[in-house]
Amino acid sequence: MDRQLLEPSRMDGELTHRYDSAGRPVALLPARCKLGRHTLGHSRFRAVVRDGEVHISCLACATDNASWRLAVTTPAPDSAELSDERYFELRAQRALTAVGGDGA
Ligand SMILES: [Zn+2]
Repeated sequence: MDRQLLEPSRMDGELTHRYDSAGRPVALLPARCKLGRHTLGHSRFRAVVRDGEVHISCLACATDNASWRLAVTTPAPDSAELSDERYFELRAQRALTAVGGDGA
């Protein structure tokens, strides 16, 4: 097992997807950059799939710390859309980790 790859402090979560009306998977990407400063619209971010992860970088922040890292557990869908819900879910998980992570 490659446990290092699953460090919660480095990985933000898993890439999720929904199915469109034609039954095709559509990847859901966070609609805001990781620092929460910018809304990620068309050509405002770069998504790169590499080694089983997708890295979503905010072009406005332009730092590695501002990149979402999401594990890709299924073949990457051909299309993607931005999801506010997905963003809030990830932010909530990060908050929970911070609260429950003492002494871990
Ligand atoms: Zn940003």
